[in-house]
This record gives sequence, C-alpha cells and structure tokens, in this order.
Amino acid sequence: MSVMPAIEGCGMEEMVSGIIRRYSEAEVLPPVLLYVDSNCCRKSALMDIFRSAWPDLVVRLDVWHLMRRLAVGGTTDTHRLYATFMGQLSAAIFQWDRTNLNLLTAAKREERIHSNIQNPSDSDIQARLDRKELSLHCRRMTRSTEVITERIQAVLELFDVDSGRDTIGVPLLHHERIWELWKQQQKHVECLQDPKGVQLYTQTGTLKKGGVVLPMYRCARGSTSLESFHLHLQRFIPGKFYFTVWYLRY
Ligand SMILES: [Zn+2]
Repeated sequence: MSVMPAIEGCGMEEMVSGIIRRYSEAEVLPPVLLYVDSNCCRKSALMDIFRSAWPDLVVRLDVWHLMRRLAVGGTTDTHRLYATFMGQLSAAIFQWDRTNLNLLTAAKREERIHSNIQNPSDSDIQARLDRKELSLHCRRMTRSTEVITERIQAVLELFDVDSGRDTIGVPLLHHERIWELWKQQQKHVECLQDPKGVQLYTQTGTLKKGGVVLPMYRCARGSTSLESFHLHLQRFIPGKFYFTVWYLRY
C-alpha cells in the first residue's frame, strides 16, 4: 500500500489503522518485522498504533537510509570516490555467509578452468565476483553493533584524509559535517541489526555454474523496491515530497 501525502504525517494514522484492520479481517498472523526510514527508536504516535495492535513487532532502520544519512556528509555524490565509499560502508555493515561465498568462489574457479586457465589465482577469482552474482547466490547478515561502529569509524577516517581526495584534490567528505553526522547516527547502528529468528532469505531455486550447483536467494531485508519507487516519483514529479517507508515482513 502506498500513500503520497502533501505533508509529512498527514493521514498516516488512518492508513496504519487500515493496514492493521486488513490483517485482522483476513485472520492472518501479523507481520513480525517492520523496516522504516525514520523513527526507528524514537517514540512516535504512529509506532504506538502499530505496537498497541502488534506488541511483538520488531522495528528496524533500513540500512540504505543510514548510509544515505552519512553520505550527506559528502561534498557531492558525483565525486569519483562516492561509489567506493558507499561500498565500503555496506561492507562495514554486512558480512557474507561463508558457505555460500565458498561455493560461489568454487563455481567461478571451475568456470576459469573450463576456459583453459589452469590454476587461476585467488585474486583473479575475487575480481570476477560481481555484485549481482553475490546478491543472488550469497546471503548476508549484519555484523555486531560494536563491529559495525568500529568499521564505519575506520571507513570515515580513511576517506577523511588525503586518500579521500580525487586526482585534482577535491575531498569526498566535508570534515566537520561528516563527524557531526556520525555522532548523531551512531545510536542507530543497533537499529540495523538483523533480528534473531527471522528468516530474511527465501531460496527461489538453483543455478549451475562451472558445474557447481548454486542456491538462488531472494532477500526481504529493507525497502529497496519501495526506494526505487521513491526515486522514480522524485524524478517524475518536480517539487518537494516527504516520504515515509514501511516494509512489513511476515
Ligand atoms: Zn534508531
């Protein structure tokens, strides 16, 4: 269900009550997990409505939103280091499932051997793992709150010095702003944690690569599909909009 109001918050109570009513009328179990783009750990009237109907609902902040909040500390998102920075933030937050990753690596190695490259090196294989393949065949999970905090800090330190400048010396990060943002956002790192006991991945099938059978997954974490819809609306309709994202997982 998508609602596009003219003012933030307007009409939302009615929509939330409507969603809750539909679940109860359909006599289905309520969702267990809700991804939001704001108010993840702050008290809000809307969350109170959800919580009074579904007391066990777990609320999490969408990871992409935390990354975007930090990216505001950049001088421009057209900077040539921007994509690398976002990639490193993501790697600071997530780790790949070892078993899935080993299987994919083995498949890529077999592919190389089939194309007559004997003994391909580890770095050659690594370079051939593309983002799409990783997402399709490997599950990810969030690192612990402590590790994420430590790693994001390290990424910011790395990009806040000369290594964060492009070839003509333009810095990726605005020094004061990025540290101020990080100070504000640190408390939300724990709101990113994958909740224990909630299955975020569904295996949709298998695919044979280099003779190795790989699982294919679909992930229910976050609000990526809604985000694409947001971006589309923002580009399609000029003006200022307020969006609230909810992604319910049940
Ligand atoms: Zn939070």
